[in-house]
Amino acid sequence: MSTSPTTEKKKRYERPVLQPVKPGVTSKFGPISAFTPQTHIDGVAVKELLATYGSPLFVISERTIRHTYRQALTAFRTRYPRVQFAWSYKTNYLDAVCRVFHRLGSWAEVVSGFEYDKALANGVPGKYILFNGPDKSEADLRKAIANDSPIHIDHFDELYTLVGLSEEMDRRPRVAIRINMDTGVYPMWDRFGFNYENGQAWEAIQKIFLSGRLELVGLHAHIGTYMLSADAYGVAAAKMSELALAIRKQYDKAIEYIDLGGGFASRNTLKGSYYAGADVVPSFDDYAEAIANSLLKAGFARGELPVLMLETGRALIDDAGWLLGTVLANKRLSDGRRATILDFGVNLLFTSFWYEHVISPAQECSQYGEDAVLYGPLCMNIDVVREQVKLPPLQKGDHVVVHRVGAYNMTQWMQFITLRPAVVLIDTEGKPHVIRQSETLEYIQSVERLPPHLAQAAPPHSEGSNPS
Ligand SMILES: *Cc1c(COP(=O)(O)O)cnc(C)c1O
Repeated sequence: MSTSPTTEKKKRYERPVLQPVKPGVTSKFGPISAFTPQTHIDGVAVKELLATYGSPLFVISERTIRHTYRQALTAFRTRYPRVQFAWSYKTNYLDAVCRVFHRLGSWAEVVSGFEYDKALANGVPGKYILFNGPDKSEADLRKAIANDSPIHIDHFDELYTLVGLSEEMDRRPRVAIRINMDTGVYPMWDRFGFNYENGQAWEAIQKIFLSGRLELVGLHAHIGTYMLSADAYGVAAAKMSELALAIRKQYDKAIEYIDLGGGFASRNTLKGSYYAGADVVPSFDDYAEAIANSLLKAGFARGELPVLMLETGRALIDDAGWLLGTVLANKRLSDGRRATILDFGVNLLFTSFWYEHVISPAQECSQYGEDAVLYGPLCMNIDVVREQVKLPPLQKGDHVVVHRVGAYNMTQWMQFITLRPAVVLIDTEGKPHVIRQSETLEYIQSVERLPPHLAQAAPPHSEGSNPS
């Protein structure tokens, strides 16, 4: 018996995969045949990140945020002379993320008193905080008035409250009204703001001027989210320009800004979509072209072009976020399908209810894939990360990387069954920083209280003894 002297590492055994041939149509891109492992993010090894900060782990790239923001700004500034972005806090309100956007020049766009306070604490001057949403308490409104923040009025009750507060505080609040309208995209979002077509928006404008107490500085719309039609924004910009010009004519007042809200699609793929999101969603250039054309041809006088305000959220941050995780186990379902259980689920990946996220192995992998269902770790049937995805066989302990998770996951995540993990920001030099620590039992319990009769921890009664 001879053993050959070799320094080569023993190759890992890989179970052969037999798959029945299923005749039918593939997409026009053909079957995916190559898997590219994602071993690094901005030059930092995924394995290193997981070893240092634990699994699962959210990672945000400052470089990608800056790159995406510049792309968006350039797309708009080259087509329209006056553009201002306001960062949508609810899309990702980790302070470090907000501060990157503020350093880049973004104002803040908030939809609650909590978000408003976060923006103030991040050093945003009140006059650069746009206050949206149907739920602003009187205390919130007082604070916004005192800070001179533009308040975007959602309904008549809010308008009347503001008129009352302006008298009581002897201030002239700066306001905009939110407008909803038919842009050719259905279902139409008509639950927020005042309707354009039925004349309600104009009625609100008249009430503002007749009150004599509020300073109308802008018009606002947020026509929906993940909008696949750039033209819809062109329609919205045209209708809002029409209102602005009517105000100019009737009340001799030039509106300072037209705010088209957020809603640009990110490059994620919607569930059930035939094409990959990255191949079909409109680019910043497409949106900018539709909006700028509408505004420029609306007929504003020279020197009275309104500022174009944008509250873009997901399209600016989705690409900059990744979720790293670990394979807990594999199993076969009763119908023979492969199931892989991961250490993160819908508790952390809220957007998996809508998106088919791209998921890559984090290590060298086979080129042969097998359809698998990816489950999260929760004891709950709806905890499915991907219903069907072709991946090379992953083994217990292998790592995976989920792409495009920067928007909404870190605000809509649930503390359910398990604790939320750390979030790391990789700066432009490639240095990782923890920007949110992983949660601990003490953190969760710090807001729990026990009534006196339960203050003493006691073991459960054994059978037969009297319960007290
Ligand atoms: C949520 C929201 C945004 C951001 O929307 P995206 O789809 O993330 O771009 C902007 N403005 C308002 C009023 C919002 O409610």
